[in-house]
Amino acid sequence: MPFPDAQALLAPLGPWFEAVKRTLPWRSPDLDLPHPDPYAVLVSEVMLQQTQVATVIPYFQRWMARFPTLSALAAAGEDEIHGLWAGLGYYRRARNLHLAAGILARQGWPADLDALLALPGLGPYTAAALAAQAFQWPTPALDGNTFRVAARLLALEGDPRREAAALRAWLQPALAAHGPSRVTQALMELGATLCAPAPRCSACPLRSACRAHLQGSTDRIPPVLPRARPRSTELYLVAIASPAGWLLRPPESKGLLAGLWNWPWVLAGTAAGAAERGIPYRAGECRAWPGWVQVYTHLRQTIHPLALRLGDPRSAPEGLVWVAAGELAKLPMGKRDQRLREHLAQPTFLPWTAEDWDAALAVLGA
Ligand code: SF4
Repeated sequence: MPFPDAQALLAPLGPWFEAVKRTLPWRSPDLDLPHPDPYAVLVSEVMLQQTQVATVIPYFQRWMARFPTLSALAAAGEDEIHGLWAGLGYYRRARNLHLAAGILARQGWPADLDALLALPGLGPYTAAALAAQAFQWPTPALDGNTFRVAARLLALEGDPRREAAALRAWLQPALAAHGPSRVTQALMELGATLCAPAPRCSACPLRSACRAHLQGSTDRIPPVLPRARPRSTELYLVAIASPAGWLLRPPESKGLLAGLWNWPWVLAGTAAGAAERGIPYRAGECRAWPGWVQVYTHLRQTIHPLALRLGDPRSAPEGLVWVAAGELAKLPMGKRDQRLREHLAQPTFLPWTAEDWDAALAVLGA
C-alpha cells in the first residue's frame, strides 16, 4: 500500500506538541526560528544518546555553566571534561564532543548534513536531530522512538530500520511544511510518551489516521527483535593504599572506560587474568564489601570490591601508578570505580591492613 501524504497526516502533531511540550534547558522558546545556540543543541543531543532526559538535565546545566561556548570546551583539558561527564556513562561521547568542539571552533558550523555527519560522534540520528533543531534543516531524525511511531502510522510489517531511507523521504516534506524543529521534537515526544511500546492511542493526536491503531496491530508493530544477551563477567576491583597514595590505572585512549582512571582489577578466579593485569591474585582470600552488579549495554559485571593498606611504599606494577591520596577525589572515574572510591571515603572504611608489600601480595596470591 502506498504511503499516505505525510504533510497532511502529521498536521495535528504541531498543535499537540505546543500544548504538551516541557520546558527543557536546551529547548528554544521559538520553534520556528533557528536555535540561538546550536552548541547547546549539540551538547544535549550527544548527552541524550543512550541517556534519559531527567538524568541529562543536571549534567547539561553543569556542562554549560563550565563550558558555555564551543571555544571554552575546545580549550578544556581531558581530565576536566571527563570529570564533568563522570556518571553519565558511555565516555566516548565526551571525547568525541571535545574533538567536535575543536573542529567547529576552528572551522565554524558546517553548511550541510554530510559535513555534520563527518564530525566525531555524530551518527545519522544525532546529525539530523541537530540540523533540524539548530538550523531548521528538513532532515528527519530516526531513532528507536521515531521508527516505532512511523512504523505504526504506516503499519509497516518487519523491522522499520530496513526502511530508513524510504521513511526519511516520506517525512521530509512534513518537516519542510510544518517546521523541522517542531516536527522533529514532536515526533520524539510522541514516541517517548504516548506511542511507547505499550501505546496510549486514545490520547494520540494522530489516531484517526494511524494504520496500526485502526487495524488493531499496535501490539505487533514494530516487531520485538531478539536482543543479544549481555556478556557476564565477575571481577575483583582492588583499592590498594600505601604511604605513596592509591594504586591506580591511568586513563586509556580507547575502550569502555577511555579517558577515565580506574582501579586495578582482576577477573575473579582466573589466575591468568590476574597475571595479565599485573596483580597477583589468589581467589577468595580478600573481599572487603558486599559486591554489586554493574550493567553496561553489552556487559554485566559482578563486582567484588576489596581494599588493603600497605605499611611501606613499593614500586607500582607495570601499567599502574601511585596517586597521592589528596588527588583521588579529583580524578575522573566511571560509575563502577566511583562507587569503590565512595566506599573508601566513608568514615567506617576499614581496609585490611598488610604489614608490608610482600604480605599484601601474599593475600592477593603472589
Ligand atoms: S495512534 Fe497509537 S500507535 Fe498510532 S501513533 Fe498514536 S500512539 Fe502510536
